[in-house]
Amino acid sequence: MSCPICDEDTVIKFRPFCSKRCADIDLAKWLNGSYAVPSQREEDMEADVSENDNAVQRPH
Ligand SMILES: [Zn+2]
Repeated sequence: MSCPICDEDTVIKFRPFCSKRCADIDLAKWLNGSYAVPSQREEDMEADVSENDNAVQRPH
């Protein structure tokens, strides 16, 4: 098995990574991804609400 970050041989202590540095890099990717997704969803929900308000007002 090789490190998913840099393809070096995995070290059992840090598996599936080769070092703490690569583990930290992967962790940072996960944190960035998990922070980005919820904020985008909130914006989408707000956009849907405003669109619904316009849809309600237009038929009148
Ligand atoms: Zn690595």
